[in-house]
Amino acid sequence: MEFITTPLDDIAPKVLAARAAFEKGTTRPAAWRIATLKRMRSLLEAREERLLDALVADFGKPRAEAWLTEIGFTVGDIDHTLANLALWMKPDRVGTPVAFKPGSSHIISEPVGVVCDIAPWNYPVQLLLVPMVAAIAAGNAVVAKPSELAPHTAAELVDLIEAIGDPAVTVVQGGVAETTELLAQRFDHIIYTGNSRVARIVMRAAAEHLTPVTLELGGKSPAIVSRNANIAVAAKRIAWGKFVNAGQTCIAPDYVLVEESVHDELVAAMGKAVEEFYGTDVQASADFTRIVNEPHFHRLEKLLHNGTVAVGGQSDVDTRYIAPTVLTGITKDDPVMAEEIFGPILPVISVQSLDEAIGFVKDGSAMGDKPLALYTFSESDAENDKVVAECTSGGACVNGTLFHISNPHLPFGGVGESGMGSYHGKFGFDAFSHQRGVHTRSTKIDPSFTYPPYTAKKFKLIRKGMSMSDPRDVVAKARGWFHKA
Ligand code: NAD
Repeated sequence: MEFITTPLDDIAPKVLAARAAFEKGTTRPAAWRIATLKRMRSLLEAREERLLDALVADFGKPRAEAWLTEIGFTVGDIDHTLANLALWMKPDRVGTPVAFKPGSSHIISEPVGVVCDIAPWNYPVQLLLVPMVAAIAAGNAVVAKPSELAPHTAAELVDLIEAIGDPAVTVVQGGVAETTELLAQRFDHIIYTGNSRVARIVMRAAAEHLTPVTLELGGKSPAIVSRNANIAVAAKRIAWGKFVNAGQTCIAPDYVLVEESVHDELVAAMGKAVEEFYGTDVQASADFTRIVNEPHFHRLEKLLHNGTVAVGGQSDVDTRYIAPTVLTGITKDDPVMAEEIFGPILPVISVQSLDEAIGFVKDGSAMGDKPLALYTFSESDAENDKVVAECTSGGACVNGTLFHISNPHLPFGGVGESGMGSYHGKFGFDAFSHQRGVHTRSTKIDPSFTYPPYTAKKFKLIRKGMSMSDPRDVVAKARGWFHKA
């Protein structure tokens, strides 16, 4: 297909038009936010088939999987946002210390201005639109940039965003040159989803304008399996989380650390799960995604030669097919452990104890210190709690994979090398809002003790006033004490 990019000279005017719409106040009223989100929702539903076709054309995403993880996910996020928007927009009344009475205080969530939203190719629909939903809900103008590596889907997304027909919601299409030009513009917030190398470019560009950033990155997310896990269920859930989208998922379990006594049972159960999901001839299955492009295919094919192939191992360059593969006998020094795999290859490493597994994750010298996701499998709550407490990560799921990001009540984001900031649901609304503190004073009385001249009597009063406990702090302290007890 011919990939049409936005002319470089059109990029600054598009951003300026979005800014003008914001400055005019177009995007602030709740009515605009709701109407724009509803318009996006109806366009998504009307174009569902076109979008699913584009995802098949780009990398063979199975339609049901694509609907669930892309369109359904985004529509669900819009519905959650529409249901909660009035509450989120409401000023939040907060306490006022006794010394500042009479007066009241509240926090207003204000739109920040123009949000830039740069997305990757692996879930090209939801990773572009869900941040847009949050930015619009918070009353901002938004400039979106889909990934050029999923060109059919990018073209559909450009068409969809243009069909919203509002200069406050606009789109730039292209690759490095266009994104570089886009990043030269001034924004009020940038959300970037992708790899940590480009994230550094984005953050440097943002620094020029002191623009805050949300960086949604990746990394090597471990799955730790205890000998006390339900192995059949763990195997299925890990295999599903890994092989959905052919492992091209930022929160896919990247590798498994399993206690030695259940290693063979787990590997065998994962082989069985693959057969249950995709049949004996996976290449013929319509339910298994292809690798996005040849460079990624060749990068992954090399990794198939690490350790011993226990499941899968086949590949076909013509269809960019890499079989769902489980590798055993892997060590920390193998190339497959050097960087995020981002494909359907799952190394399984045997450990003697959970402590060894935890130590392995924490000593992430070659793999980035803080993964985006962490998975722990055990029937013992104490074991799962220990893993979650001792290994940090962006998010975590106990006895499951991927599901934690589908709950709109949980923040989605990384930490350290896996990113900064978070979104989804209210967290997205907050990410693109300025929380503005407003204190309102009464003029009925005007105590003079804060005004100069500072006599000894006033100074005494000031000290007394400042040391008076706020009743709310007294209650909080008691609750904290009770909680601790
Ligand atoms: P990609 O190649 O599509 O790049 C992402 C975006 O960056 C694109 O829009 C692209 O145009 C832009 N870009 C590329 N090079 C650039 C440059 N030099 N300057 C400015 N912009 C540039 O996607 P990718 O980075 O290969 O995505 C895969 C990575 O993203 C993986 O590490 C994955 O874990 C991570 N990821 C994270 C999340 C998350 O939500 N945390 C989601 C998906 C993917």
